[in-house]
Amino acid sequence: MKDTFYVTTPIYYVNDVPHIGHAYTTIAADVLARYKRLCGLKTFFLTGTDEHGQKIEKAARELGITPKELADGVVGRFKDLWRILEISNDDFIRTTEPRHERAVLELFNRIWKKGDIYLGEYEDWYCVPCESFWTEKELGEGRRCPECGRQVDRLREKSYFFRLSRYQEPLLRLLEENPNFVKPQSRYNEVLSFVKGGLKDLSISRMTSRWGIPLPNDPDCVLYVWFDALVNYLSGIGFPEEGYEKIWPADCHLIGKDILRFHAIYWPAFLMSAGLPVPRMVFAHGWWTVEGQKMSKSLGNVVDPYEMAERYGVDQFRYFLMREVSFGLDGDFSQRAIVNRINSELANDFGNLVSRTLAMVRRYLGGRIPSPSDGQLRQKALHTLEEYRKLMDDLSFQRALLAVWELIGSVNKYIDSTAPWSLYKEKRIRELKEALYNCLECLRFVALMVYPFMPRSAQRLWEMLGFRNGIEGETIDKSGTWGGLPEGQEVAEPTPLFPRMEV
Ligand SMILES: [Zn+2]
Repeated sequence: MKDTFYVTTPIYYVNDVPHIGHAYTTIAADVLARYKRLCGLKTFFLTGTDEHGQKIEKAARELGITPKELADGVVGRFKDLWRILEISNDDFIRTTEPRHERAVLELFNRIWKKGDIYLGEYEDWYCVPCESFWTEKELGEGRRCPECGRQVDRLREKSYFFRLSRYQEPLLRLLEENPNFVKPQSRYNEVLSFVKGGLKDLSISRMTSRWGIPLPNDPDCVLYVWFDALVNYLSGIGFPEEGYEKIWPADCHLIGKDILRFHAIYWPAFLMSAGLPVPRMVFAHGWWTVEGQKMSKSLGNVVDPYEMAERYGVDQFRYFLMREVSFGLDGDFSQRAIVNRINSELANDFGNLVSRTLAMVRRYLGGRIPSPSDGQLRQKALHTLEEYRKLMDDLSFQRALLAVWELIGSVNKYIDSTAPWSLYKEKRIRELKEALYNCLECLRFVALMVYPFMPRSAQRLWEMLGFRNGIEGETIDKSGTWGGLPEGQEVAEPTPLFPRMEV
């Protein structure tokens, strides 16, 4: 049994600057990684960039630079954005790195030795921008690419094939024995019916492009960009050098639903052929529309994550993406929706609770945390934490946040009903201390639970509660028990966690 948790994002194609889709997958992976660390698991979180292929070659040519120069520029923007969005990835893999090429060739050789690669000829409809061959059946109206709607061309070339057809039965077994191999359920069904429909051998080399990893046995051909790209999940953890097997197999490949087939069918088949364990789960999330419309460059409504983080705040943006839709479904990004959530859920429910609790502790108790008490909120907090863990383990991020906000609501109500200001006036100091301890301790629970979503705000709350350490070093096992706030610790003067926003 490995005691690690390995989560990945897809590696992003460098033909485009980062947009909300990239930010969404990466933030979700970060939430999961931070949560797993909070559970005390050694966690490895990998992201990176996919830099080979015809599209990159073409774009670079148009700009009069080399493909590598083009990639270097875009990679810088991705790395910048991940730093701004507080992404805690442990490594960043680029497919142009020697360590990646080494891993790809090793995997290719293992599959070759197994006898699963043969030389043939490939002919079909081809979309250059998508770098995809399409069958007649798959083409859209007017013989257009089903993915981008552009005109496709007839293309025939010498190609090496992977015997995917050999893996139909093993893949069916994998799916039947592991109902959680693909999530959510609708995506699982999609994959299952595709595999049941029969699998054709897969072309894994290209002669039309020079910008890729040449085949060791036939340097005229480069490896198909998808074969190359998928191997990042191994090269990023050091494969084939010793040590990678402490991390492999991946526990969760987070992807967008458009690249499901590559991850849930081709990738496990390559791995089976190479004699390597398959990932534990592929989770495909949905897409975002913007103000009810499909996001596109031509409409000029592409959401820029840099701008969103600057306008609304990093934590607010992260919170919104995880709270607005059930993870796995499609969602709509609207300015009104994000502002409403910031004002009602973050500023009013959460921020106000923090401010008024700390203000009362300072006013009535000189800012010192009273001795632990065992009030009615104890059960609620412990129950919420348990529920939260179940939901987070299931990647139900939205419902996990709902559970935390239910606890926040309970504490707000508790304050209204116990009315600490009256207790103070009536000099019922023992009850006053008890009430405030209960509120403070719930806030500590809330800080731990919101930390994966809003690391910076959670740290600020942690410090307001008087802690000096970094919350990222905490674990639920150590800190998830009631009574963890030390008596006598001084709470800070509250400052608003989430400023209110105008629409
Ligand atoms: Zn296309």
